[in-house]
Amino acid sequence: MWPWGHLAVAYLLYTASTRFRFDRPPRAWPLLALAVGTQFPDLVDKPLAWSVGILPGGRTFTHSLLVAALFVPAITAVAIHLDRREVGVAFALGYVTHLFTDVPPSVFAGDLAGVAYLAWPLVDQPPEDPVGGLLDAILHYYAMGPYEVFQLGLFVVAALVWYRDGRPGLERLWSSIERLETRVRS
Ligand SMILES: [Zn+2]
Repeated sequence: MWPWGHLAVAYLLYTASTRFRFDRPPRAWPLLALAVGTQFPDLVDKPLAWSVGILPGGRTFTHSLLVAALFVPAITAVAIHLDRREVGVAFALGYVTHLFTDVPPSVFAGDLAGVAYLAWPLVDQPPEDPVGGLLDAILHYYAMGPYEVFQLGLFVVAALVWYRDGRPGLERLWSSIERLETRVRS
């Protein structure tokens, strides 16, 4: 799935969960953690596979449920220790959402090779198209098709819900930019 597809699904789930648990929309810092969590597996695995060559594929180490089963409780425990429980919960939700939203549509047609990454390294992975570094991947890995258009649609829906939620995080973003500008000028 494309980055904005991951972000859209996670935002819709997270705003539903904050409405259910706290009867309010999401807050800025957990929302930032959610956004980072939604991209985290790709930010780790793809550079380490395609640029550095440490990992055997772009969906391996942090895309594995085995690693997530260790990592998610650890990050949540750290967040609770820092008295930032909701930040940890949001990151974990974003991260886990990424893993399941990476499942390709072909799986629903019976091609189970598309979910092999969830059991890395226990299960043999299907061969990955050769990628000549991260830039090449960005330029050529993703192609536009009906599934990608669907993801763009999801992003628009999530953006509308975010707007209706009162645009959480936007005010804090502007104030951070203003503070940065003041610091640069002084
Ligand atoms: Zn991914």
